Amino acid sequence: MDLKLKNINHHYGSVEVIRDLSLDIPRGQIACLIGPSGCGKSTLLRFLGGLERPSSGEILQIGQPPEDCLNPLTYVFQHFALLPWRTVEGNIKLVLEDHGLSRRKMDDIVTNVLERTRLSEFREALPKQLSGGMRQRVAISRALAVRPAVMLMDEPLSALDSQTRELLMDDLIALWTRQPFTSVYVTHNLNEAVRLGHRVVVLSRRPGRIREIVDIDIPLSERHLGDPVLDEKQKQLWELMREEAAAADKELINV
Ligand code: ADP
Ligand code: MG
Repeated sequence: MDLKLKNINHHYGSVEVIRDLSLDIPRGQIACLIGPSGCGKSTLLRFLGGLERPSSGEILQIGQPPEDCLNPLTYVFQHFALLPWRTVEGNIKLVLEDHGLSRRKMDDIVTNVLERTRLSEFREALPKQLSGGMRQRVAISRALAVRPAVMLMDEPLSALDSQTRELLMDDLIALWTRQPFTSVYVTHNLNEAVRLGHRVVVLSRRPGRIREIVDIDIPLSERHLGDPVLDEKQKQLWELMREEAAAADKELINV
């Protein structure tokens, strides 16, 4: 499924949050969204997921989701939103329960996603027994369980330390390489953006507009920490963001 944002404008009360923003998200690609804090990134994800409607403009979903898709759009958030009293398996089944699937089918789906995220041996564990990185792997498994057409990821690695973030990036790349998915991936971390994005969409400060779209042509599986081409792209992104980030920072202080 491709997603299309057309001429999106949005206000919260008198605050203009997004101005005339149009963007295509092609299927099978990861589009990273970066921009200063408060520029409307999470708001755009909510529009894409249908949780909220913009003041004006259109959001189009083009094409059919995969046949076995239970939910075309699914979220992964910074805070893992796992139910503490449910096991890993129970947390994943949470999103499968209202679809009229047999117990056997649900078990098979859980087995499949846990294998893909390397969590099979933690099936019976409770969230409190798991590290932050493992909890986020569970949240990613839960998102994958519904075979989504699009994964909407809002700073999914921001709560993790830098080593764990590296491991999770490797995991996401391996998952994507094995079975490409479409994703809109919000991050404030430029390194994540150049490691995971097929394209990086740079937003201006509020009201959010597109400043630039930077394509990154290296295959995901060939992107490594410290790659000079990626470092160069990261610098380019920072040059695009520096002024906006500085101005946004002052705005926040002056509020
Ligand atoms: P980002 O994710 O880029 O940091 P958000 O999309 O969360 O930014 O928010 C964009 C702007 O909209 C911010 O100024 C924020 O305070 C404001 N905002 C977000 N949600 C609401 C809401 N429900 N009501 C009022 N203002 C909101
Ligand atoms: Mg946000």
